[in-house]
Amino acid sequence: MREFAFELALCAHLEAGFDGIVSRQLGASTGGNRVIDVACIKPGPGFDDRAELTSETIPDAAIESRVGAGEARYWKDCFDCHPERAREATERAIEIGFFEAERRGSREYVCQAARYPDDWFGRIVGIENKPDLSDPGNLEAQLRTDASLGLFDEVILATASHVTGAHLHRIPNEIGVWRFDPGSETREVVREPTPLTPAEPGIEPLDREATKTDVRVASVAEKARARRRLAERAYGKGWRTYGFPSCERVENDEYAGASGLPYCEWKGRFVHPAAECGSSCAGHDPAESPAVDLGSERDRRTLWVRDPDGQRRRQTGLDRFG
Ligand code: SF4
Repeated sequence: MREFAFELALCAHLEAGFDGIVSRQLGASTGGNRVIDVACIKPGPGFDDRAELTSETIPDAAIESRVGAGEARYWKDCFDCHPERAREATERAIEIGFFEAERRGSREYVCQAARYPDDWFGRIVGIENKPDLSDPGNLEAQLRTDASLGLFDEVILATASHVTGAHLHRIPNEIGVWRFDPGSETREVVREPTPLTPAEPGIEPLDREATKTDVRVASVAEKARARRRLAERAYGKGWRTYGFPSCERVENDEYAGASGLPYCEWKGRFVHPAAECGSSCAGHDPAESPAVDLGSERDRRTLWVRDPDGQRRRQTGLDRFG
């Protein structure tokens, strides 16, 4: 089975049984380039306050900055990063309603619209998908990175393959294993994950060569920042990160109670529109793409809030001066 179709089916299945945030394709390292296929973010006590702020990802530099919730400050005095990154973060934070801005002479002063709740997320489970274990690619190295870095609370390998003892032997003991059959929507726990240690320093392998692997130590603070970055990205992004193609043969399909999945009747399966659709596809039959509102579907099915009251009030206030 294609990895994209497997991933969509798994995300829809997980979302149906989980009150939290499910997202896909997220950076999951402190200095390397590990990208995890799926992450499930459990809400923490401050979740509702976070949801009230904005539906988008809040830039890391804006959260890290000295811009507070009370008194407005000159934006340039609040950042330690490169001025270009600081400006970009400020503009984006204003645009999504996390910062409020006011002009004082030629200077722009900013403050947080409401205090950022550091405790908005709790446990984070990472899931690596490998529907076909006979074609593992660099799965083993990826899972070793996850186990030694310990950014997640737990990591799981999800596959459609029959899992043998030899397979289990090759992946780190801490990694849990699920066998997921998208056809019947059944998920069997082959091996439970062992909890990892996000609150302790971790080891991140950087370059693996035949005879040596360069590693770096990730501090507790770096890991905490990387987890917040991942959680923020997941909150803004979710897993419906595709558009529908302009093709007669695509349908808006349902899976596990979620609608808005791109099913191609010509290929007889879910398709990855950005990778598979377009005039180079032999079955392509030009047509208007179906009107599918993926944001509404996410809003309906999850704790994510598409149009938070706080953001709406602030924007209405700004419109008055537009
Ligand atoms: S472009 Fe090809 S793969 Fe995409 S929906 Fe049309 S027929 Fe299917």
